[in-house]
Amino acid sequence: MTPEKLFHELLGLGLNWEVVESRFERASGTVFLEIRETAKLWELVRCPEDGGLVFCYDHTEMLTWRHLNIFQHRCEITCRLPRGKCRQCGHVFRVRPPWEGLSTHFTKEFEAFALLLMREMPMSKVAETVGETDTRLWRMLFRQVAAYAEADFSNVCCVGVDEMSVRKGHEYLSVFADLVRRRVLFATEGKDWETWVRFVEALEKHNGHRHAITQASMDMSRAYQKGVRENCRNAQLVFDKFHVIKQANEAVDQVRGAEVRRGGKGVWEALQKTTWIWRKNPENLTEHEQERLAKIEHKNLATAKAYQMRMVLQDIYRSPDATTARRRFKVWIRWVRWVARYYQQGGLFRSMLKLAQMIEDHLAGILAHWQSGLTNAFMEGLNSVFSATKRKARGYRSTTHLITMLYFISGKLRFPQI
Ligand SMILES: [Zn+2]
Repeated sequence: MTPEKLFHELLGLGLNWEVVESRFERASGTVFLEIRETAKLWELVRCPEDGGLVFCYDHTEMLTWRHLNIFQHRCEITCRLPRGKCRQCGHVFRVRPPWEGLSTHFTKEFEAFALLLMREMPMSKVAETVGETDTRLWRMLFRQVAAYAEADFSNVCCVGVDEMSVRKGHEYLSVFADLVRRRVLFATEGKDWETWVRFVEALEKHNGHRHAITQASMDMSRAYQKGVRENCRNAQLVFDKFHVIKQANEAVDQVRGAEVRRGGKGVWEALQKTTWIWRKNPENLTEHEQERLAKIEHKNLATAKAYQMRMVLQDIYRSPDATTARRRFKVWIRWVRWVARYYQQGGLFRSMLKLAQMIEDHLAGILAHWQSGLTNAFMEGLNSVFSATKRKARGYRSTTHLITMLYFISGKLRFPQI
């Protein structure tokens, strides 16, 4: 068997194409496989306009497609693609070769391989690994993610929305997710109520329906609440656990900040560099951190009290049902207010009071957590999706790049596989 015949078999070219030459260029370490069409091709090709019979009109210049490596050597397919002309309408067109991927520079197999790498590492790293520019790889990913246009949202009923920061403190994306099928549905710039207008538009473009949405999970921001009220009238608002605890963490941070600022002997020393202690659950603290915590609690600091409240809040989420939870939330709110009176001077507990007020005002939506059951996990998972997205799109934090990467990582779209 000649090398050309062997490559013909390996590439699965069939009867319509043949490998006419294989050569290895030592200087560039590249294997070139030159392919040409056979006469048989013209029995098969039809005019894309009207299905008419076609004859060979001419050939393009020599084109190349990057293919999978051969024994660690770069491999490129070269071909002067035939252009066909329709016997009926005279339309001239380029014949699409079976190996070509969605981008004109890569074969299908190479694209599938690159996509596999993109799942595992940042784009710049993929580019380095396969020896292509990241611009070319991004362009390929953009074309692959165009599969998004065909995604079906007709079963979407439980939606979660969260904001993802594009650049620290500046731009935001609002990311909408299907909490049942655990996938990202849509992302758009901004975090105002109009993001919901754009979301329901996208939803309906993909066969979904705004009034089929029965549950909308989110943080307690007014903008998103307004977005839901004005666009999805059947949706029950759910303020998810993840965001409630996050706000509790922030409130504890603020108590700590206020207490440090107010000072007093030993306070600063006790509390400096403890931010992370207050964000962790006790079981995750190192021995050293536990010791520090014990010291702080000993000093009867407001921060320790606030931390205790945050822990109890988290424990309320272990309640078996909404009725029990409601009772415990109410007790908790009273407790915060009572303790706040004690720390009134200097307003140390202002942030905790605000948190209690917010929980009271949003209690119905917070208690909806107990009805929404299994749908919460993905909401919390979105955060790690966001950091993975940013990591993989490093260097290209434009919104288009981030959204494309989001859809690629978590859109559950169909991509070619090896
Ligand atoms: Zn035609």
